[in-house]
Amino acid sequence: DQVPPSVYLPKLNLQQRQAVTAGAEGGLAVHAGPGSGKTAVLTTRVAHLIQVGRIPPEELVVVTFTNKAANEMKIRLSKLVGAQTVDKIVMGTFHSVCVRYLRKYAKLVNLAPNFLITDRDDCLAIIKRLISTLSVPDNLRREMKPPTWLESISKCKSRQIGPEQYRVEREAAGAVDPEKSEWVARVYEAYEEELAKSNALDFDDLLVRGYQLFRNHPRVVAKIKSVLIDEFQDTNSVQYDLVKLIAAASGSLTVVGDPDQSIYGWRNAEIENLEKMLKEFHPVKQIFLEENYRSTGAILGAALAVVRQDTKRVKKSLKTSHPSGSSVVLHPAPSAFDEATFIASTIKHLVAHLGGLVGFNDFAILLRYGALSRNIEVALQKAGVPSRMVGGHKFFDRTEIKDLLSYLQLLSNPSYSPALLRVLNVPRRGIGDKTQREIGNVAERKQVSAFEVCVRVANGQGLVQGLTGAQRKAIKGLVELVRDGRKRADEGADVVELIDFICDRVAYKQYLEKTQGPDANERWENIEELKAYATVVAEENPSTADLATAIEAEEGESQFEEVAIPTSRSNGIKAAPESDDDVIIVEPADEDEDDEKIEVPLSSQAADAGQTTPLEIFLATSMLATDTETQAAKSDAQVEKVTISTCHAAKGLEWPVVFVPACEDGTYPFFRASEASEVDEERRVTLCSSVDDRLLYVALTRAQSFCFLSHAASRMAGADTKQKKLSPFLATASQTYPSLFVKKLQKVTQKTREETARVLGRPAPNEEKAKQLIDD
Ligand code: ATP
Ligand code: MG
Repeated sequence: DQVPPSVYLPKLNLQQRQAVTAGAEGGLAVHAGPGSGKTAVLTTRVAHLIQVGRIPPEELVVVTFTNKAANEMKIRLSKLVGAQTVDKIVMGTFHSVCVRYLRKYAKLVNLAPNFLITDRDDCLAIIKRLISTLSVPDNLRREMKPPTWLESISKCKSRQIGPEQYRVEREAAGAVDPEKSEWVARVYEAYEEELAKSNALDFDDLLVRGYQLFRNHPRVVAKIKSVLIDEFQDTNSVQYDLVKLIAAASGSLTVVGDPDQSIYGWRNAEIENLEKMLKEFHPVKQIFLEENYRSTGAILGAALAVVRQDTKRVKKSLKTSHPSGSSVVLHPAPSAFDEATFIASTIKHLVAHLGGLVGFNDFAILLRYGALSRNIEVALQKAGVPSRMVGGHKFFDRTEIKDLLSYLQLLSNPSYSPALLRVLNVPRRGIGDKTQREIGNVAERKQVSAFEVCVRVANGQGLVQGLTGAQRKAIKGLVELVRDGRKRADEGADVVELIDFICDRVAYKQYLEKTQGPDANERWENIEELKAYATVVAEENPSTADLATAIEAEEGESQFEEVAIPTSRSNGIKAAPESDDDVIIVEPADEDEDDEKIEVPLSSQAADAGQTTPLEIFLATSMLATDTETQAAKSDAQVEKVTISTCHAAKGLEWPVVFVPACEDGTYPFFRASEASEVDEERRVTLCSSVDDRLLYVALTRAQSFCFLSHAASRMAGADTKQKKLSPFLATASQTYPSLFVKKLQKVTQKTREETARVLGRPAPNEEKAKQLIDD
């Protein structure tokens, strides 16, 4: 099932071929603009390294920007080298690559292998709780909201600075507000304790712990023969340091990127990484690709007009052999409502007038931020245009999905308090905020997990003040659910079965019907979607146990020193003083009518065997999913839909027709009140603009044949209607190059259809058919 080089090499141009066939040793940097085949080159190079370079697939690490990009690359690679080979490659985002090694070598960094990943919402929930339990003074609470605390902590973590070091550092720096620094350090400390107690890692931890693992145990990655990275311009310094460690043994590193598409200025993304790479992997072979295979001349011209305003940028040449095509439309709309109507009607117009050459799947609407989708979704729905939202309001942020994930997290790791506190009263068990707080406080006082407090309550201990009999019973039901669910998981139930089990036990569907009214069906469908996603994840990770064994055999894990893990961390539940090491057994309650003793096993069979269970894989995959990757799994994936996505999540992708609404000042560049207040005006403008003109550039260059930019003169912001001006980037570009932008789509003729067909590599529709569609 391998495609030989004689088939894939001739499809590439000369420079691409040079990049694909360059030897594995040393550095290779491919610099090129959008649509020039960087990702295609990277993918083909992986196949070439396996087939011709004879590098075993499990000794390759490939880093992509999103999980979705990794999946797409896997599909393409499967066609070249076969799916079985592809499964062995270590491929994914920086986070998922780290998770993979951290699970395998958890003991080496003093972690329990069944650690959970805390997403941002859960992190914020923890911070909120800590601010209240630690009694942070009111003035500070008013000044710093939970996201700001989290950001301060995150900054420390990414620099590998602990709370104590932070204190010392602030003091040495003569911090203006020592009280504030002290509180940040305290919250930071408590936050870390909470994560440790919950056996959880946040996103920063994944990278930092990965770094520590690779640095302190270089043998873990000693077998890696080559590392390849897509979208290198967006790696930050921690990620670069990781790369250096992973590639340390082989010194073989391939990066492909485009500085013009660097869109994380706010997140310390560093273009300087390229300079470092050129020095540290010396000599680096550099290859420039100049031909764009994606877009028409008109689209490229307009995109360049936008990015060219950045005077500091290195000029690159970019040419296309595609026809010039239809001009880019810059459409002024009176209001956001009219803009949305314009988008919906243009989509319908093109579907008909292009004679079936494009379907709804071929359209993307790219947004600066997710909330801009509301008007558009409504307008599309009204016009009968089906759509799907990607990367904005995340699938995994939906209430019903979070509920189910929290239950699954509890089954995987009962001591994970954010999950317990979330589902304690879902569905309603009559356990209100006050009782929840009380349970949290007891846990704090007794230094045990919230779940263990529940176990003790279930067994009749009067730990929590003022519980009614009904509440006690409800808590007992929850504890039993966790116990039974864990048992099922241990007996080999897959994630879909576990979801069914949970829904059944808590009557989740009935709960939705009772609380969600007409929305209940849609929400229940989301649960079905979650199950479909779980099936896909299971299929994509069929042989993890085998894989683990394979890695182990390869790397001779036995040579590693074993690090003892304190019991409280290695197990799901912190051991209670009165329990033995294997189960929590609490004396049956005096007042309890049935004297069944509840026991919850502390660790699963899989964990004992050092294996990663399907449940753990599923949870990690879900937590790391950066956009609605579940969409691929959705049963109606075949149904044609327009994609609505954030610009960030659209990176690396392409569509025949792209809309970029809200091209306004305040959107491009984007001002967020909170950010704007933190930096002075001048710095704010440079920071915002240097990122947002590139973001606009990324959005425009996703388009293959048609690109529609639009802006509204007025737009609702909260309860107010705000007057809006055209984005300064586009104002300048369209003044400097007036011929590149038109106000209205030119008439679609048979020539348009034929050119479009050429760009898309599809057969041209005949004129008769087009006429028919238009008449309908
Ligand atoms: P971006 O910067 O947006 O990530 P990229 O440089 O990674 O873009 P690709 O996505 O790899 O570009 O390629 C863009 C399109 O061009 C794809 O549809 C790809 O299949 C096509 N392509 C790449 N190389 C060639 C080639 N030599 N001949 C024909 N088509 C090509
Ligand atoms: Mg790419």
